[in-house]
Amino acid sequence: MQNIDLHNHSRVSDGLLAPAELVRLAAANGVTTLALTDHDDTDGLGEAAEAARGAGLRFINGVEVSVTWAQHTVHIVGLNIDPLNPALVAGLSAIRGGRMERAERIAHELAKAGIPGALEGALRYAHNPKIVARPHFARYLVEQGVARDVPSVFKRFLVKGKTGYVKHRWAELGDAVSWILEAGGVPVLAHPGRYSLNRSALDSLIDAFVEAGGLGIEVITCNHTRDQAELFADQATRRGLLASRGSDYHGPGESRLEPGKLPPLPPQCVPVWQAWGDAALH
Ligand code: AMP
Ligand code: MN
Ligand code: MN
Ligand code: MN
Repeated sequence: MQNIDLHNHSRVSDGLLAPAELVRLAAANGVTTLALTDHDDTDGLGEAAEAARGAGLRFINGVEVSVTWAQHTVHIVGLNIDPLNPALVAGLSAIRGGRMERAERIAHELAKAGIPGALEGALRYAHNPKIVARPHFARYLVEQGVARDVPSVFKRFLVKGKTGYVKHRWAELGDAVSWILEAGGVPVLAHPGRYSLNRSALDSLIDAFVEAGGLGIEVITCNHTRDQAELFADQATRRGLLASRGSDYHGPGESRLEPGKLPPLPPQCVPVWQAWGDAALH
């Protein structure tokens, strides 16, 4: 039985585990093919690939690219990428530069709200100083006793309309898709059910994604309901998109579902991994 999980984070971005620890957890859970898809950085892929060879599972190089589309933040997962591709390397590097500048603005807003030291605090939780993300701020705020847990910090401080939320411009959708294609990868629209978009805006997003050269869509992911999985399976079939399955795991205590614990793809879907054959088996 195959168990394929193509969306996971390590401490190279906002996950909690080292890449090798993530691979060992996935292997223990019976995952047969795993992708590491850290936000805007590929530095964990070497360690994960090596651990996968040791653990006897197939490893897929991935990344999750942060994008601004029509004023909304959306995420594009790139699967089976060449992490050394110059276009991808340059694109991700530009996004990371913007992250540090945004982190300074988040810390400034939090300081105005009476929470000092948030940049230094968040950086203590960011194992990779090139990627400071909102969960690092959330962990610091929990440490400071400002809120009970990470989800509560998000609700009170880090989402649109709250004190610690700042506007930010990520990559263009078309650029992100192009970098992934140039790197030989498959661009996949991540967790489409998680965006606060109505049906018609979501349709426009998928139109724009397909227009840009996008090839796949996450049908099964941790917070999709059964109805959403069916809806996106239908969308995938109607639009000729490949379907992906990924837990979006971030680490113990922060993610409800561990790698490999998701339901299977609905049977009508064409799996994104179908075209990969066995060639990349380690
Ligand atoms: P950033 O890329 O810095 O904006 O951080 C985005 C990350 O924050 C996502 O990838 C999730 O890991 C996490 N996140 C976003 N929204 C929430 C939420 N409402 N509750 C908990 N974590 C969240
Ligand atoms: Mn994340
Ligand atoms: Mn995401
Ligand atoms: Mn993710």
